[in-house]
Amino acid sequence: MFDIFSGKKEDATSKDTNMFCYQCEMSMTDGCGSNGQDIGTCGKSALESRLQDMMIFGTKGLAAYRSHARELINEDSQEDRDRLLKIDDVISQSMYFTLTNVNFNFDEHIAQLMKLGSAGVEVLDLLSDSHTKHFGIPTPVKITQNRAEGHAILVSGHNLDMLSRLLKRIKERGLEDKINVYTHSEMLPAHGYPQLREYKNLKGNIGKAWFDQTDLFSKWQGAIVVNTNCIVPRGKSAKVDSYIDRLYTYDMVGIDGAKKIEEHNYDALIDHALQLPKVSGFESDETLTTGHHYKTILTLAPQILEAVSEGKITKFFVIAGCDAPGKGGEYFREMAKELPPSAVIITSSCGKFRFNDIDFGNVPGTQIPRYLDLGQCNDSNGAVHIAIAVANALGVKDLNDLPVEIVLSWMEQKAVIILLALFSLGIKNIYLGPKAPQFINSDIANFLVDTFNIHVIDNPKEPRVQAKKDLEELLA
Ligand code: SF4
Ligand code: SF4
Repeated sequence: MFDIFSGKKEDATSKDTNMFCYQCEMSMTDGCGSNGQDIGTCGKSALESRLQDMMIFGTKGLAAYRSHARELINEDSQEDRDRLLKIDDVISQSMYFTLTNVNFNFDEHIAQLMKLGSAGVEVLDLLSDSHTKHFGIPTPVKITQNRAEGHAILVSGHNLDMLSRLLKRIKERGLEDKINVYTHSEMLPAHGYPQLREYKNLKGNIGKAWFDQTDLFSKWQGAIVVNTNCIVPRGKSAKVDSYIDRLYTYDMVGIDGAKKIEEHNYDALIDHALQLPKVSGFESDETLTTGHHYKTILTLAPQILEAVSEGKITKFFVIAGCDAPGKGGEYFREMAKELPPSAVIITSSCGKFRFNDIDFGNVPGTQIPRYLDLGQCNDSNGAVHIAIAVANALGVKDLNDLPVEIVLSWMEQKAVIILLALFSLGIKNIYLGPKAPQFINSDIANFLVDTFNIHVIDNPKEPRVQAKKDLEELLA
């Protein structure tokens, strides 16, 4: 790990703003800080309170990935069990850390956050390894988008294991020719995995990022299953009533009125899909490309390094992260669209749906695609593995000296653990947006700027203007 904290402590503890905490009996009326107090009854400062919020949010993201990994690890492998145990320890330590009257030391808050980030690196690697062990190493594939036919099931979420079990059950029942399966949002990278692609009824991808569910699901006549976050809550729209009876949820995901898949029994979902009308109205000619897992990209390392040394590739832009509704996300499309042809885009997570319809072609004079989709949000670790491989090959000691720019969209707690994971590796100069996280107060923002040179993109009204301005800065 890089030494990232030297000399920054004094800058970060200067003032207390945005105090709020209501977690214990000693709380002031309406919560410590709610009436303008700078400090809680116990002596907790706003800075400590917000750092603890960040720790809790990061822990939630870590817990989600840990749950996904738990389903896939090999119970007979001591190594897998040890990796899981290490992550579990950090989850419980971090929760304990935020208990009332445990810790009032700034350095130790930061150290625990970095420990959390390191566990984030571990969980992403564990999940990535488990996926490739089970389903093979993804390879690039072009698939149809918004084209569907027949009796069909739409799968939303991130859970490849659930998808695989569903496909297997359809095949066991001899229904491969009768039920087509489509992916939505973060399930898109499933198409790159050889052992999932083997199922001929895994057809294509429908829709965009998670938050189009209400509109999309109400148009979709087939059955639907959501197997992880993100699901749109029922209260958001009356349209949900039009599909709630054909919506199934899995594991932790739940929504009033939907049916639950229990004990990996997919028969009710399959039978339901057969009873529902065949889907219609999805006849687009669009296509999407996915399947550039880092383990595949590393096999292209010699060509990539040659293109870098010949000046054909001048920069790598990691434009990745969680998408959220609103105009702010246009920032990422604008950034991707305006990049010079010598720049390669590395992406992951559902933020890619802001620009993955664009044909970026190849780097001029090479066969290297300019758009590389590493996969889901949990495949973000791939960008780090690629950076480490390039740094080793070029003899660069500090990853921050590579021609790599990182532009991340954050939406929720999985993105927080990914950000902490990058910090724990000493990665700096990240652009984060499209607006500043509310749990980051000015003290933390100053600390992040001082220590990690983070740039908070915070111009939600003019995302395109902001993207152009930031791009000029990044290419300077
Ligand atoms: S932990 Fe401290 S700051 Fe939080 S509610 Fe209790 S007394 Fe207030
Ligand atoms: S990438 Fe983030 S916002 Fe998108 S579906 Fe996954 S967790 Fe949700």
